Amino acid sequence: MVSKTLVKIASRVAAVIVGVALLAAAAGFVLLRGPPCLDAADGAAARLRAPWRRGCRWVTQENNTWSSHRGRFRCSFDFLMPPGTAIYPARAGRVVMVERHQPNRPGFFRANVVVVEHADQTRATYAHLIGPSIGVDVGDVVTSTSPIGQSGMSGRTIYPHLHFQVTTADGAPLPARFVGVPEGRPRFLERVCAEDSSE
Ligand SMILES: [Zn+2]
Repeated sequence: MVSKTLVKIASRVAAVIVGVALLAAAAGFVLLRGPPCLDAADGAAARLRAPWRRGCRWVTQENNTWSSHRGRFRCSFDFLMPPGTAIYPARAGRVVMVERHQPNRPGFFRANVVVVEHADQTRATYAHLIGPSIGVDVGDVVTSTSPIGQSGMSGRTIYPHLHFQVTTADGAPLPARFVGVPEGRPRFLERVCAEDSSE
């Protein structure tokens, strides 16, 4: 009798878990999948490397989605990754902004951020970094082999990820295209891989 009751309870719990997972997936597709950023020059835009060295990372939020990737953040991507993942520039350039507000605290605090300006004056922003891990300063010249810091979960986030976006020098959002991704624009729950895709 006891085992039958346990089986009943277990199957109900399993049904609830499956239901919640399906609802979360549906909500994710509605809230976290949006139209990709495009502009007239999109076809000519340089392809970016994955801003990490090894393995593949899931896109957990794409362009024009939810409340955070809107307005001047509308061309952003979020990449799920373990805290402490070394971040490298997606393109070579010069560091133009470093913000170390705090160690690595999630919540309504300011995120730790590095901004790199490229030769064509476009800029890439790397956010939610671990503050003390940031090893570059404004003025430093960085290439795809110069680690700039480690990903974490500082600022407005509830899970560890890298927030990445490309803008003009004035902060206007620009489309970003990655090497190895069809069309260049990764979608929600698509993976972007480093050249060395082994983990
Ligand atoms: Zn983001």
